[in-house]
Amino acid sequence: MEFNLDKITRNNIKSLQAYSSARSEFKGKEGVFLDANENAYGSPLQINYNRYPDPLQLDLKDKLSKIKGLPIQNIFLGNGSDEAIDILFRAFCEPGKDNIIICPPTYGMYEVSANINDVAIKKVPLTSETYQLNTNEIVKAIDNNTKLIFICCPNNPTGNGVKWNDIKMILENFSGIVVIDEAYINFAKYRSLIPELLNYPNLVILQTLSKAWGLAGIRIGMAFASEPIIDLFNKIKPPYNINSVSQKLAIDALDNITKVNDWIKETVSERDILMSEIEKLPFITKVYPSDANFFLIKTSNPLALYNYLLSNKIIVRDRSKVELCEGCLRITVGTKDENVQLLNALNKYSA
Ligand SMILES: *Cc1c(COP(=O)(O)O)cnc(C)c1O
Repeated sequence: MEFNLDKITRNNIKSLQAYSSARSEFKGKEGVFLDANENAYGSPLQINYNRYPDPLQLDLKDKLSKIKGLPIQNIFLGNGSDEAIDILFRAFCEPGKDNIIICPPTYGMYEVSANINDVAIKKVPLTSETYQLNTNEIVKAIDNNTKLIFICCPNNPTGNGVKWNDIKMILENFSGIVVIDEAYINFAKYRSLIPELLNYPNLVILQTLSKAWGLAGIRIGMAFASEPIIDLFNKIKPPYNINSVSQKLAIDALDNITKVNDWIKETVSERDILMSEIEKLPFITKVYPSDANFFLIKTSNPLALYNYLLSNKIIVRDRSKVELCEGCLRITVGTKDENVQLLNALNKYSA
């Protein structure tokens, strides 16, 4: 199917004149900067933050580019991936007219962002129990106003990945944007779809520094896509969407990739131990396979188990009211010590 970026972009965005910031014109140059109404004396701090941040975050993107094996022209940074999700709507979806497809149970922000932007949502649930894409139903749900299809892989809250053949089928049969949210890709056995960007101009991949990288507090999300799509996002975003402190901390953090890789290995091994121990418990009916740093468990009385854990000061996520997750709690893998506490509490539980 033919992909035409111009055709799916909102008219107001096509004709939008981007804000031209003082700081993007003279970035990194020496001089007397009297152009941005900043306080030239400094900040009342040990470190000065009196200057506006780099609007295009080029130093940070340079680092990410080497790690991801992708030119900086294919990288957009947002204030969390949540900003990237919102910008997809603002670029492509006409409020009150266009629609998107999501595949529940999945990450809640796609729906929230659609509602904020007054964009209709078509839900095509995943298959029950195996949580795979209902590709035929997805293709059937596409109409002329469908602009985005969100696929989360590994999926939150189910933890599993969806089949590449199914994703490919959708990429090839949809002339809008297919968004693959890879927030948990670092924990998966399979690789990111980043190399597929060369084959599919309608592919947008989301990743984040919030999960494996341990930087949820500094709010850095990434979108990878073709250069024209990234240009569009950069035009729409607030000029200084990533503050100087976050840019600096992220640059420093990216030097510690060895530490992060060690944590990923440990998390995956801890997850597998937790899953196999929990599977043995008589009150657990199912432990779902996971490619992430969390997993779903099924039990006959999820609320009772949830409250029991809460009374032991262990907080898990109750997903039992979510369609296709009936009876399920979602457990995030903790440190070794935290996981032992969880197992001890579970071993003392009598359903
Ligand atoms: C946690 C999570 C994110 C992360 O969002 P940030 O705004 O980058 O913190 C994105 N997608 C999914 C599926 C998630 O679970």
